[in-house]
Amino acid sequence: MTTALISHADCTLHDMGPEHPESPLRLLAIRKVLERTGLMQELEQHQSVAATAQQIELAHSRQHRTRLEQLQPEQGIVHADDDTALCPHSLNAATLAAGSAIQATDLVLGGTVQNAFCAIRPPGHHAEHSLAMGFCFYNNVAIGALHALQQPSVQRVAIVDFDVHHGNGTVDIFKDRPEVLVCSTFQYPYYPERYQDIQRDNILNCPLPAYSKPALFRHALEDRWLPALLAHKPDIIFISAGFDAHHEDPMADLELTEEDYRWATQMLTDVARQCCNGRIVSVLEGGYNPVALGFSVQAHLEVLTGH
Ligand SMILES: [Zn+2]
Repeated sequence: MTTALISHADCTLHDMGPEHPESPLRLLAIRKVLERTGLMQELEQHQSVAATAQQIELAHSRQHRTRLEQLQPEQGIVHADDDTALCPHSLNAATLAAGSAIQATDLVLGGTVQNAFCAIRPPGHHAEHSLAMGFCFYNNVAIGALHALQQPSVQRVAIVDFDVHHGNGTVDIFKDRPEVLVCSTFQYPYYPERYQDIQRDNILNCPLPAYSKPALFRHALEDRWLPALLAHKPDIIFISAGFDAHHEDPMADLELTEEDYRWATQMLTDVARQCCNGRIVSVLEGGYNPVALGFSVQAHLEVLTGH
């Protein structure tokens, strides 16, 4: 069984300015590593197809979508919040990113591939039902998960998020949907400071203090995610794959290496094999040191492809 890679060159046209860490270089760095290591040839490559308005509205209000469309400039840059901006190409990239999660879901549920990775930007896990924030416009992983739940073969879904930032948008969208288990690890206290103390049976927040060692991250996954995932019995697992907890990442203060991402991916593929025939859709979130991001995605994909 193969691994699909879903991406689109137009995702590099979304540009929030030369100083912005969420830069087009991130995707170029990933592509370069996959080509240099030969991993690219092992992946079944698909070009992203844009999500429809109806698909985006699985996770977002119509007002949210139309507000962003009205905000997008003809030229230059317009800010949606302090650190989230639109250029003339941003929403095209955002709809391609959201569409990638849907394509990945269809490929994995259709059984033509074992799992899939969406190498896309803008990221999505901070985007709430009616709010763009934290470099995110549409919640790609949430749109993929809600699309999966429309399929007759899918009753329950799990979303796991190891980005260094808490996926507040995903929690906002699924806080009252018990069929969706949302597990996250994140640096705390830290951005975004929303929903971190929420009490819900389907929301498993695992805060990690700044400068904590990778062992603490691994314990959170083994002791908390693993039993919750096995009890939930998802029909498909989505990964909000942010790699900004890497020790070389400039954005935050966790100390993971690519070997921790390899270990985490191995644990998740083992769980997926037990629960759901190995079905995994992984969607890129953060990761702001392009070199560390490239090596981390390499480790992630080496496990997903069964190296
Ligand atoms: Zn992040």
